[in-house]
Amino acid sequence: MASVILRALIAAALVGIAGVTAAQTELSETENARQFAQFEIAGSAAETAAAPEDAALRVGLDDIPEDMLVDLFPELAETYTQFAGVTSQVNPTGVQWTTNEVTVAFNGGSPEVRELIERTAAEWTQGSSFRFSFRDAQNRFREWRPSDTVAAANIRIGFAATGPNAGYWSRLGTLATDRDFSPLNRPTMNLGGFDQKLLEYVGEAHRAKWARSYFHHVVLHEFGHALGLAHEHFHDDCQRDLKLNDDLGYRLTPNNAIGPYTADVAGRRPGALRVFQGHPNRWTITKARYNLHAQTYFAATRQNIQSEFGAGSRIETTRAIDRHSVMMYALDVSLLRSGANSVCISLGAGQFSDGARFATTLSAGDIAYFRRYYDRP
Ligand SMILES: [Zn+2]
Repeated sequence: MASVILRALIAAALVGIAGVTAAQTELSETENARQFAQFEIAGSAAETAAAPEDAALRVGLDDIPEDMLVDLFPELAETYTQFAGVTSQVNPTGVQWTTNEVTVAFNGGSPEVRELIERTAAEWTQGSSFRFSFRDAQNRFREWRPSDTVAAANIRIGFAATGPNAGYWSRLGTLATDRDFSPLNRPTMNLGGFDQKLLEYVGEAHRAKWARSYFHHVVLHEFGHALGLAHEHFHDDCQRDLKLNDDLGYRLTPNNAIGPYTADVAGRRPGALRVFQGHPNRWTITKARYNLHAQTYFAATRQNIQSEFGAGSRIETTRAIDRHSVMMYALDVSLLRSGANSVCISLGAGQFSDGARFATTLSAGDIAYFRRYYDRP
């Protein structure tokens, strides 16, 4: 099995889209840099005005329920050939929608919460003929149920806070419509507990609070996956800097009865795979690899994509990591070799109480990706 996948991986073509990106946004690299710098300044201003988000909110940002992970091979991650070239917005080609309208249905949630999610998803599509359609001809929100025998919509949103669908996750692009990967009794995107968590953001008076909240980030992030984007921290530059494994000889040390894992008595630190297995995420090693290790993620994703779209599918990336992307995780500095100087650190305007940052608006790179695939007549 592993050899089949490896052959497919080696056969896959790789294409950089940096040039196209620049052309599409009509920004030179210098102009891009300037625009990013402006975003940074705007972010700093916003932070002084707003209380940081509780770091505990970060719990559960993952992208697939455990029981839907394809069977991964630990040895594959070690022997897999590095992608040529470089880079991200990491995007497995073949999963982009080809229609101008992608329908979305809810299972649960008040009309007000649904409207908030609808409005946030529209941040991706504004100015384009492509749109997410949340409502039927009578202007009612589409709904789905696990007992459906016909798909109520292309994307099915659930709010499960516990059980096998819990967490924040989304199927990648059109994989949402594949019955093998996305059975009709399951959501294709889960926003765990948002039917309750978003209530405090409903209404005009809370627009500013919503705009800078982590939950707003999560909705943008999951719709980014639904449009076909993978994680920005899968960019080579970040993968090299991310400490996946424990320091040599690390002794398992929870910092209290429930964790999280911390440095041991000799000062040796746990790696990212260990940290995410501890409190509060409690991921399995498989899920930790899937969400943090690019080679594992793309091996698994490509297996799905190629069984769906054939061997021609490929990963497309941009030259430089986009630290303002909504597809960046808020990673702890202690997990990064370069510490505070790491390119793995988000430059988003949002901030947790522990200092970790996250994007609250789409970056120029996010928008460039969207335009490349969805800005069409
Ligand atoms: Zn994600």
